[in-house]
Amino acid sequence: MADFYDLLGVSRDVDADTLKRAYRRLARQYHPDINKDPGAEDTFKEIGRAYEVLSDPQSRARYDQFGEAGLGGAAGMPDMGDMGGFADLFETFFSGFGGAPGGGGPRRRGPRQGDDLRLDLTISFQEAVFGAEKEVQIRHLETCSACQGSGAKAGSGPTTCGTCGGAGQVRRATRTPFGSFTQVAACPTCEGSGQVIADPCAACGGQGLQQVRKKLRINIPAGVDSGTRLRVANEGNAGQRGGPAGDLYVFLSVQPHGQLRRDGIHIHSEVTLNYLQAILGDMIEVETVDGHQQLEIPAGTQPGAVLTLQGKGVPKLGNPVARGNHLFTVKVQLPTRLNDQERELLEQLAGHHTSRGQKHPHKSGLFGGLFGHRD
Ligand SMILES: [Zn+2]
Ligand SMILES: [Zn+2]
Repeated sequence: MADFYDLLGVSRDVDADTLKRAYRRLARQYHPDINKDPGAEDTFKEIGRAYEVLSDPQSRARYDQFGEAGLGGAAGMPDMGDMGGFADLFETFFSGFGGAPGGGGPRRRGPRQGDDLRLDLTISFQEAVFGAEKEVQIRHLETCSACQGSGAKAGSGPTTCGTCGGAGQVRRATRTPFGSFTQVAACPTCEGSGQVIADPCAACGGQGLQQVRKKLRINIPAGVDSGTRLRVANEGNAGQRGGPAGDLYVFLSVQPHGQLRRDGIHIHSEVTLNYLQAILGDMIEVETVDGHQQLEIPAGTQPGAVLTLQGKGVPKLGNPVARGNHLFTVKVQLPTRLNDQERELLEQLAGHHTSRGQKHPHKSGLFGGLFGHRD
């Protein structure tokens, strides 16, 4: 399926008026009554579908963000409650973004809350650990500046709906086998608002909303991880007819690190020792999120042993004073080639170990010196 903007031959920031003109021109060109080319009817339908989506600010915003996938059914965002603050934290990842029910479009009755929006943001390993301030660019719907959201052309205003006389409701008598009932329904002309716009604002096509690009600074707290969701209140789409704006949800994903691996608040990595370091012990330099640190290798460290640097892990989300640990899994590398001198020394050691080690297991050579008592 072609891009709706391409299909209509308009740019992505096209205003409502230009969009309408582009649609009308193409609709005339491809109308099956006029255009007998094979495929003209399909093109005509596609143009109609594209215009239907792009002419409604809410569905256009969803299309901009999610493509056609954003136009399907699915309920709106569940209400997560406002915890206050600039960016609230939600650690659970959930699906079910979508927006208003598909099909005939939203029913409008009085104020309508703006859609929540989703922004996916990738941050580095280090930024996730220590937090960061990121500048992002979003597109969302704001109240139209030309008509201040009224949807009416400057100088004009909404007028009282003639169908319902401004009540927003119409009464209908329904006959049933049990008698006649009067049903109250939302007025089909004004969709319940009691007012109609005779002369719509050209900038927003009467919707009272316009697509705006905006730069935002997002404060990412220390200790976030892939799947952490931040809420930025009121930066979703603007509401209509005085309704509140939706929220912007920032979904984080963290880039993997070359050497370090996250496990909650702890960090894992490997250190490779040569066999002498493992046997004799050493002080080595290791990479941590705090830069290079010294790690003590105790004498007699075994392959697979885990050494810990306390407090060099990830700050706890919401309580950054508390930090996890950095855990180092030890690998020991044995030499594949020995020079003559090394071989001589090792053979000496081996001979010493087997000939005397059998008889005096607690008093033998180098190993005795390391792990027992020297003669
Ligand atoms: Zn407007
Ligand atoms: Zn009405």
